[in-house]
This record gives sequence, C-alpha cells and structure tokens, in this order.
Amino acid sequence: MTLSAPSAGQWAAAVAAVRALGTGDEIQLICHVNPDGDALGSMLGFGLGLRRLGFDRVRATFPGEFRVPDPYAALPGSELLVAEGEAYQNADLVIVFDVASESRLGGLAGLLSAAPASLVLDHHASNTGFGGVQLVDPRAAATSVVAERLLAELGVELDQEIAECLYVALATDTGSFKFDLTTVAVHELAARLIATGLRPGEISRRVFDSRPFGAMKLAGEVMGRAVLEPGAAGGRGMVWTYATLDDLQRYSQPPYVLDALIDPVRSVAEADVSVVVKQVAAGEWSVSLRSKGAVDVSGVAVSQGGGGHRLAAGFTGYGEPDQVVDAVRRLLDEYLN
Ligand code: AMP
Ligand code: MN
Ligand code: MN
Repeated sequence: MTLSAPSAGQWAAAVAAVRALGTGDEIQLICHVNPDGDALGSMLGFGLGLRRLGFDRVRATFPGEFRVPDPYAALPGSELLVAEGEAYQNADLVIVFDVASESRLGGLAGLLSAAPASLVLDHHASNTGFGGVQLVDPRAAATSVVAERLLAELGVELDQEIAECLYVALATDTGSFKFDLTTVAVHELAARLIATGLRPGEISRRVFDSRPFGAMKLAGEVMGRAVLEPGAAGGRGMVWTYATLDDLQRYSQPPYVLDALIDPVRSVAEADVSVVVKQVAAGEWSVSLRSKGAVDVSGVAVSQGGGGHRLAAGFTGYGEPDQVVDAVRRLLDEYLN
C-alpha cells in the first residue's frame, strides 16, 4: 500500500486534539528506541512549541536505557526529557514522533494504546498505521517537516530554540541536505529555521563533526573488516561490516558511535547496497541497510520485521553477523528475481 500525505481532515483532527486540552492536562511525547536526530529534534521542538502554547505538563521520553547520544545532549527542550519510567502513565494526549511501527516503542506501546487521544507524526513509507490521528507523510524528508507544519497550524511561531531542534532533525535525516528528498520545500524550511538566528556551522560541528578519538580508532577497525561482494544484489554489489559490544568496550565508546559507521560504508562505489550489523546484546544485532537506488531496502527490512525508507532501512537480526548478512543476501536475491 502506498501512503499519501495527510489530508486536510487529518491536520484538522490533530489541531482539534490539541485544542481540546486544558493547559494543565498531561501531554506525553514519545520517540523511537535508540533515538536519532530526527526523533529527538522533532519531539523536543514540538514539545517546546506546546510549552509556548501554555501547556505546563509536557514530558518527552523514549524506550530503553535513558541515555541521549552526545551529539543531541545540548538540544533545547532537553529539560522535557524523562526516563521511560517517569512518563505520564495516564496522559490526556500521547504524541509519537518518527516511529514506523509500534515495535519501535518498546515498553511504551501500552501507554499509547491506553491514551484517550493520540497523534502519530512520521514520514516512514513503512508506517503501519497505528495510533489515533496519523500525520504520516512519506514524502517528507524528516518527521520535523510534519512537526513544523503542525506547529504552524496551531499558531506557534518559530523561535530559535524550536528552530534548532527542527533544524538538527532536518539536517540529520537529509544527510546534511544531500539525500533525494532534499526538495525546494526542505531548503525553504531550512531558511525559515536559520532566519530565527541559529548558527548552522556551530550546530553541524556539534552534531556531525565531533566524535571522541576512540570512536575514530574503533571506526578504523570496523572499516578494516569490511567485505565487498560484487556479485551480490543481482550483480549490483553489496558491502558489509559489523561491530560488536566488545569493540565498544575496548575503545570505551557508547553505542551511538556505531550509527555513523554506515556513512563511510555506503560511499563504496562498487556496491549499491551497504550493510552495517551492530551488536545490541548477545546474539542480537541492529542492522542498517542503505541503497544507492537499484534496490528498495525497506522491502528487505520489513520482511525481517523492521522498516524504513526505500534507500535507508533497518531491522533487528539474530545469531552471528555472517548469518544476519546471509539473510540479507538471500532476501536481496529474492527481491531482484
Ligand atoms: P538506521 O540505519 O538506524 O539509521 O535506520 C535507517 C532507517 O530505518 C530509519 O528510518 C529507521 O527509522 C529505520 N529503522 C531502523 N531500524 C529499524 C527497525 N528495527 N524497525 C523499523 N525501522 C527501522
Ligand atoms: Mn529516526
Ligand atoms: Mn526520520
């Protein structure tokens, strides 16, 4: 099924759901597990917007260990963040950001299903259609594009703090304005955000160009074990590598540093498909898939219980790294035949 952009009725329903609340009502914001720049940026930017509207009780959270990746630790609105155990258990409204399926909500899925009202802001083509009012635009470059539109519909004016959150979300999900969904509208939104006074250079240095020395050494080792398979993916080529918890431990690095490893891997010219297999627990791996265009990797991810976009997707794999990659190789062959 191909998703289309939210209808006028859906935007109106989302606005009505917020306007139905009193300023003392509880609003719980949730983004996906292992949150990235778009998940945190769109959630915190929207949360700040709700505060500007006078809502006093706004909390933001994500499932799993309560640890914000360093590049996003200084985002405005971080004071709204609480560990998942501190989330409002009986929130009047739950709003979900950048989540393609309920499985990405971990232990917080129950909170959503129990809520009297809920909104889902997202842009994954693989979105499963869960939750109350769905604002899911698969053509949006980031969830923050959807969040900014809803803030405008609610009459919230952009200020520098809100803009910084939305800008980080937009810059991370577009690969610094490089990917296919980087449209005129994306640059117009970026211009509106920058016009509030934020400094793109400073933000980029903090978000993209600042990693611990150990993370660089670790990346060197992980790149060193990459394998190129020119015959895979129907001859379009696949390149893959993996990183273990032991790698993280040896270099004393937190898990988020593994998320950037897909970028150098996906730049390999001889491969359409790139794969990084990142250990999350014994026998459990978070798999990042990228394509240059010949292959829809979201199909592979969805068939493994994951999700994502045509050119960037992921899933949870089990066993050893080569078993996870075997499955990807086989699914690519199936997909291409
Ligand atoms: P990543 O490789 O983690 O940067 O993720 C690439 C894209 O795939 C993002 O849009 C993610 O939201 C999505 N994705 C990654 N892992 C999963 C998963 N286990 N389930 C659903 N979607 C995922
Ligand atoms: Mn995300
Ligand atoms: Mn996103």
